[in-house]
Amino acid sequence: MADCIFCRIVAGEIPADKVYETGTVVAFRDVNPQAPKHLLVVPKRHIATLNDLDEQTIALVGDMYLAAKQIAADEGFAESGYRTLVNCNEDGGQDVFHVHLHLMAGRRMGWPPG
Ligand code: AMP
Repeated sequence: MADCIFCRIVAGEIPADKVYETGTVVAFRDVNPQAPKHLLVVPKRHIATLNDLDEQTIALVGDMYLAAKQIAADEGFAESGYRTLVNCNEDGGQDVFHVHLHLMAGRRMGWPPG
């Protein structure tokens, strides 16, 4: 999608601080971090929201979590802990309409989230 910022990051058309990549997903640091460590894991394929997942694309969710697990180990916060979340549509607080997994660590997370 030419007008999708995360598609453009995946394509290397705009810069991002990429930390991890597989054949199906890319992870990079969030430009506006909400925790000392805040990364985004995105599928290379454009999927707008969780609502758009289907039988053909659901395996990407597993790929995103395997990436998050590996990044947590690589960045050294697997044992201290971390939070993953996906925002969906307006009430979920989604701003970028290309599915992404937030991976946050480095501080104690509050509950419930705001
Ligand atoms: P969401 O509100 O769940 O859609 O999250 C979108 C996230 O993308 C926010 O945390 C933004 O800070 C982040 N973001 C937006 N543009 C970029 C970018 N060019 N590089 C890295 N992170 C970005």
